[in-house]
Amino acid sequence: MIIAGRATPDDLPRLCPILSRQTNRQYGNAPVREVEVGGVRFGADRPVVIAGPCAVESREQMLELASLVKQAGADMLRGGAYKPRTSPYEFQGLGLEGLKILREASQETGLPVVTEVMDTRLVEQVAEYADMIQIGSRNMQCYPLLTEVGRTGKPVLLKRGMAASLVEWLGAAEYIAKEGNLDIVLCERGIKSYPSGEYSRYFLDLSVIQALREETFLPVIVDPSHATGVAAMVEPASRAAVEFGADGLLIEVASGRGSVLPPKCDAAQAIDPEQLRRVVEFAHAHQHRVAQSK
Ligand code: PEP
Ligand code: MN
Repeated sequence: MIIAGRATPDDLPRLCPILSRQTNRQYGNAPVREVEVGGVRFGADRPVVIAGPCAVESREQMLELASLVKQAGADMLRGGAYKPRTSPYEFQGLGLEGLKILREASQETGLPVVTEVMDTRLVEQVAEYADMIQIGSRNMQCYPLLTEVGRTGKPVLLKRGMAASLVEWLGAAEYIAKEGNLDIVLCERGIKSYPSGEYSRYFLDLSVIQALREETFLPVIVDPSHATGVAAMVEPASRAAVEFGADGLLIEVASGRGSVLPPKCDAAQAIDPEQLRRVVEFAHAHQHRVAQSK
């Protein structure tokens, strides 16, 4: 049967000529093309750990967490200033004020920062404050947003749509690449599947890492926080992701010291700085194993 709009990985050379390994031989058989963000290298021989709160909630919270993230040995900061929330009555983020706080946290710690943009009208503003721009799961197929973000020339963290196939995900990345921006890092963050919501938030699809390696040269990281939605699962899921060859991790943390209020969003999936330190240690130790096996 011929089905309209059906696409498989066999169609990638036609759909994604810039990002498909088959059509773009420029990067040869190297596993990935490195993406550099403020001195942090994705796709080099050591997994990158990005950590921070779900949302920037206050200057005090962000600066405290940034310093804890730095002490835990992580490479980059995260934090949402514009939050995609299920209901318009939930906390939407601090917006421009949040971006300014992120910049300050980045300057204080020396860690580059990634934050999400949801609105084409705000791409320029977010690009001014962020070292890397995140496109969230809900907006992976917002094509005008992908184009605008591609035009900034800033590195992009492109999360997988929660129901996106590999072809749809790479098709979205191709919109950014088409604007001349190849500094794209893909982020698997769990997909909707039959058991999702019953015992974990989404279904963490680690097999996609290997599949992506075959199809493209873009680095791939994993977000075990949104994938599982359960703090106790984040550490083992992080180790599994690193074992599967992920080029990095995106992790939500909360203070754990009780000196700031509990997070307004995603509290149940936030790990504490001590757990983060163990994850970083595991991820960074992987470098040596990779180096030794070469
Ligand atoms: C986030 O990382 O802040 C986020 C909202 O994640 P996702 O887009 O994967 O749901
Ligand atoms: Mn979150």
